[in-house]
Amino acid sequence: MNVRDSEHMIAELNAQEGYELTDNPREADLIMINTCSVREKPVHKLFSELGGFNKLKKEGAKIGVCGCTASHLGKEIIKRAPYVNFVLGARNVSKIGEVIHRDKAVEIDIDYDESQFAFKDFRTSAYKAYINISIGCDKQCTFCIVPKTRGDEISIPADLIVAEALKAAESGAKEVFLLGQNVNNYGRRFSGDHEKVNFTELLRRVSTVEGIERIRFTSPHPLHMDDEFIEEFARNPKICKSMHMPLQSGSSEILKAMKRGYSKEWFLNRAAKLRAMVPDVSISTDIIVAFPGESEEDFADTLDVMRQVRFEQIFSFKYSPRPLTEAEKMTNTVDSEIGSERLSRLQAYQDTILDEITAGYLGREFDVYFEELRSDGYVAGRTDNNIVIKVKGSEEWLGKIARVRITEVSRLVQYGEIVA
Ligand code: SF4
Repeated sequence: MNVRDSEHMIAELNAQEGYELTDNPREADLIMINTCSVREKPVHKLFSELGGFNKLKKEGAKIGVCGCTASHLGKEIIKRAPYVNFVLGARNVSKIGEVIHRDKAVEIDIDYDESQFAFKDFRTSAYKAYINISIGCDKQCTFCIVPKTRGDEISIPADLIVAEALKAAESGAKEVFLLGQNVNNYGRRFSGDHEKVNFTELLRRVSTVEGIERIRFTSPHPLHMDDEFIEEFARNPKICKSMHMPLQSGSSEILKAMKRGYSKEWFLNRAAKLRAMVPDVSISTDIIVAFPGESEEDFADTLDVMRQVRFEQIFSFKYSPRPLTEAEKMTNTVDSEIGSERLSRLQAYQDTILDEITAGYLGREFDVYFEELRSDGYVAGRTDNNIVIKVKGSEEWLGKIARVRITEVSRLVQYGEIVA
């Protein structure tokens, strides 16, 4: 989502102000840091990065801080780093053309409505187009700062989304990536009088766009994975067979404390339905260990869900309290060393699962959409179920879909040869 926000800001700056991108901070007229605040570490990193850029920047160059940490810390950023010229919240990116002309501007209004805003065009990839389908989040997960930095959830009208997909197809992209904090809650609220369309119907409409061959999305919420959604996912050949299902914890008690709205049983039921309807589906997840109150039994429940679902990919973290959240005030915290030990155990267990899964890829054939030139004489792409595969080749393969046989497997990336 931050990548897409950056694209929006680059597009505005380019179209309205004539800015061009540079990789060299020494020659930049404007340096922007687009921040995340989901975990604590990147927030600390922000101030050291800012100090570094302040030393590097040329005379008269401006520095801006955007994104969720900008929303959260607001003018505090300028207090701590007085050389920062403006602060722009995650929900206010369309105001970029305006704030760069107001020194010390702080625009962090989380009620601001960008759902109708038609952004100019800029895409970091020629092959894949990110498209926002909603902004903000209405959930109140007790560990999460996002509703406080991105505001209430508003869906972007379906006709604007389809128009974006059409534009992407016309410019040659075969894949669209639909983005939202909670995509399958799409359609719950629009800011004006718009046709009520749910996420399943939106997927159907986007899949009618000629030239778009692959549709991905993130993140769906396990609570909203109803039968209609899973059945469309299974039936529609344009929808990539890779599903992100953020588990967070396998313990129903902890899920209740997190206010996730589903139980261990519901999650397992949805994952089993997915696996039954789409045998080749790959399922990824997010897991937090050592959330306040997590006992060894609760943690064992998380390992049990991993055993039953056999995720193809996990993003796992030790709980870190975030400001402005309910969980920050919880006093039944888990000892940090216990948390670290659980995280290592969980990751080691995932490695054994992953080794078994990837061993099963050897010799199999998949359609790969090539998107990236690697420096070592390889091109890389993804299968529809999100396996990253590298083959020997050059830019002639970029933007093409080819049949590849896997010849060598590893945890992160698979190697193969083109067979057709
Ligand atoms: S669904 Fe929960 S975890 Fe996801 S963004 Fe919303 S509040 Fe945060």
